[in-house]
Amino acid sequence: MRLGSIDGRAVLVVGEEVVDLAAASDGRLTPGLADAYLRWAEVRELAAGDPSPTGPLDPARLERPVEPRQVFAIGLNYRDHAAETGKEVPEIPATFTKFPASLGGPYDGIELSGDKVDWEVELVVVIGRRADRVAEADAWDHVAGLTVGQDISDRTVQYAAGFQFSLGKSYRGYGPIGPVVVTPDELPDRDDLVLRCTLDGEVVQEGRTSDMVFPVARLIAELSAVVPLLPGDVIFTGTPAGVGAGRQPPRFLQSGQVLESTIEGIGTIRNHIR
Ligand code: ZN
Repeated sequence: MRLGSIDGRAVLVVGEEVVDLAAASDGRLTPGLADAYLRWAEVRELAAGDPSPTGPLDPARLERPVEPRQVFAIGLNYRDHAAETGKEVPEIPATFTKFPASLGGPYDGIELSGDKVDWEVELVVVIGRRADRVAEADAWDHVAGLTVGQDISDRTVQYAAGFQFSLGKSYRGYGPIGPVVVTPDELPDRDDLVLRCTLDGEVVQEGRTSDMVFPVARLIAELSAVVPLLPGDVIFTGTPAGVGAGRQPPRFLQSGQVLESTIEGIGTIRNHIR
């Protein structure tokens, strides 16, 4: 199942058509995205009944498919990325937040906050069932689906005043997400997906999610041991090697560039830099 949002309404994306959740359920489900994740079992049930499409899909109109209350993000979760930044792989997930209002849609423009703004393609996990002190073995039962995200990072602010990860990664629009949330059963292997980032068509990052230091299930166990994860919450799971700051000489985003981020089986988000 693939869940998206168009004109602020939650829709199932089925091939080249959409199913409006509120319309297809005769108003039992509301149009709101937050409600879709709160009532995820009902959404799955509706989708399983092969509802009739309510309209054609215009992919360019897909909006941010999540509306989280909490946003978790993990640093240094790929060994090759930790190495390029000169850091040790941590013993517990290096966790920060991107403030929810910083998130953006899959095709939104990104306005640069400075001259050291970097790219980080990431698998984003969306919670579909409250996870409170969940064991690793049960963690996937709490996942609604997976989507593509960019953890855009202002490196100057990130390393100011000691560390300011949450602030440096929360400028307006610095967390584009989408284009759809895909349930794990649709993917060839939910723990091994190719992720790729290109800048004006040049591949700058390419990795596999199977290389994560703390895989998805472990992250849910570790985070939910501290604080409950709520339906609709998202976890940015870290980025593989190839970010701009890790290069010799360093490279950063420039106005006019097009940043594309792709994950196998999910899709591509495309953001114009200005
Ligand atoms: Zn990141």
